[in-house]
Amino acid sequence: MPRPSKYVSRSDLGWGTSPADKANPRSGLVIHYDSADQGLADKNHSSCVSYWRNTRSFHTGPSRGWADIGYSFMACPHGYVLEGRGLYRTQAAQPGGNSSHYSVTLATGPKDPIPAAQINAVRQLRQWLMEPDTSISGKVLGHRDFISTSCPGEKAYALVKDGTFAKKPDESEGEDDMPRHRRFEKDNSQELEPGTWASLRFDRRHDGHTGDLYALVGPEEPDGALYDFSVGVTVEGLGSGTEVQLRATEYEPDGEGGWKVARNRPIESPVQAAGNGHFTYAWKGNLAKGRRVRVRVAQFGDSIAQLTSATAEVFYWPK
Ligand SMILES: [Zn+2]
Ligand SMILES: [Zn+2]
Repeated sequence: MPRPSKYVSRSDLGWGTSPADKANPRSGLVIHYDSADQGLADKNHSSCVSYWRNTRSFHTGPSRGWADIGYSFMACPHGYVLEGRGLYRTQAAQPGGNSSHYSVTLATGPKDPIPAAQINAVRQLRQWLMEPDTSISGKVLGHRDFISTSCPGEKAYALVKDGTFAKKPDESEGEDDMPRHRRFEKDNSQELEPGTWASLRFDRRHDGHTGDLYALVGPEEPDGALYDFSVGVTVEGLGSGTEVQLRATEYEPDGEGGWKVARNRPIESPVQAAGNGHFTYAWKGNLAKGRRVRVRVAQFGDSIAQLTSATAEVFYWPK
């Protein structure tokens, strides 16, 4: 395994060689978090780079006064590894293991999701560090294995304990002829007001992602993607002859931390014959950089209807 495929080096960041003392950490990799939710999974990757720069300023500023950013690396929710002190440097991350182990922070807080791409970035980093040159042991620990601390948070520590971070990286990450797949499911009811477009909110994604459950594609593909999805919904409480409409809609940031419609895709409008109906919709599209795609539903009956379940199968190719 070479250096992680999506890597932001110190020279990319405009930082010189780390002034930290030399070391040769060989005993493993220690996982950290931020302790405050940063919401990076739902922002563009440029926010991760800003976070990393700010962290370095904080660590080298008056309140910490360290020689450099405290960590060896960061693994972000978009699948990038960002270099901190980097290879062969002592750290200020986990007293008791600063020159024996490398450190990587996920920059998450207790409620932040840990997407599959972030887990894979940690796996790629570990695999790279295990190569002959650096030859660390494959052991993965959490900060709390050294001292009493909440770090790296319950979610990440569970992944340390069950061996998730110590698995081989998913080789399909970064190889783009095979599509990625996601499945979304919903079984909590959602009200549909007559004549109003509602974004379909799912309850679960197959990989346990807990961030944006409206977007079928987008949050973790900062450069956009080609996509191909199909969705099925069940709507109850429709009068006979009610028209139900489904469409894909692409959203872009509205500049104020929210989302606005960037592009509506063609509408499918089946008509309901009985009281409850099952409707399907499929669309293939080309999602531009920074956008997300949702499915929206509208019904044109006389009263509120309930969207009681939905499933989406999504295939996509990140750009
Ligand atoms: Zn920590
Ligand atoms: Zn990122």
